[in-house]
Amino acid sequence: MTDPVRLTYFLNGPWPDRAAILADLDGCLISGDTVLPDVPDLFARCGDRLWIVSNNSSDTAETLAVRLARLGLDLPAERIVLAGEMTLRAIQVAKPGSRLALFADPPLQALAERLGLRRDLDRPQMVVLARDRSLDFDDIARIAALAHAGVPVTLANPDPSHPGADGTPQPETGALWAAISAISPRAVATSLGKPAPDLPREALRRAGVTPGAAVFIGDTPETDGRAAAAAGIEFLRLERPGAAPALPPSTGRITGAVPC
Ligand SMILES: [Mg+2]
Repeated sequence: MTDPVRLTYFLNGPWPDRAAILADLDGCLISGDTVLPDVPDLFARCGDRLWIVSNNSSDTAETLAVRLARLGLDLPAERIVLAGEMTLRAIQVAKPGSRLALFADPPLQALAERLGLRRDLDRPQMVVLARDRSLDFDDIARIAALAHAGVPVTLANPDPSHPGADGTPQPETGALWAAISAISPRAVATSLGKPAPDLPREALRRAGVTPGAAVFIGDTPETDGRAAAAAGIEFLRLERPGAAPALPPSTGRITGAVPC
């Protein structure tokens, strides 16, 4: 495992000149609505070579671009690759018009509708679980029952938490899955979120860049580092003094990277 480095160390090295600079979001660029130190310099230095590659499962690229612009960070939606959005797009490509028991925040619900994916909580072909802040007891019972009955489950990401504005861990999709897999311990979920290599590979594909011409910066070796390694991209682990320690992916049973 590499030693963690400050963002200033990254900016003073050769990495900002690479053809593509892939960056994690939470705990790397922002923490809640707080822009972390030296991030504006990163945006200024890297320009249109900068990509966000995040396990975010609340936003779409469009809604996140708007949120970042309010924080003074301008990045077009085309250069933002998010786990929740990519999960729905992968399903739409593999199985157009699928009936989904989708548990997600409004931006992803709206995206699913635009993609022609149908919501069906009674007889779904697949459960898709993202960071649904309205998830309640009945929803957990329903997902556990569907998983127990053998309906495939796809998670937007396996992360148990991400840092809030003051560094306090906020619940993520993996924490919801941990509750469900405690009820149905034999249930297995798939996820294309990091540590799977799908998201960094998608950024490279859009950039038209080979893995050797890119670099990935992130704060979590268990997800960012493993995803970068699996995609063949050099990884720099960022040190964020004062930030909450990043936690490893959920211990619930999660396999594979392809949701269909
Ligand atoms: Mg992070």
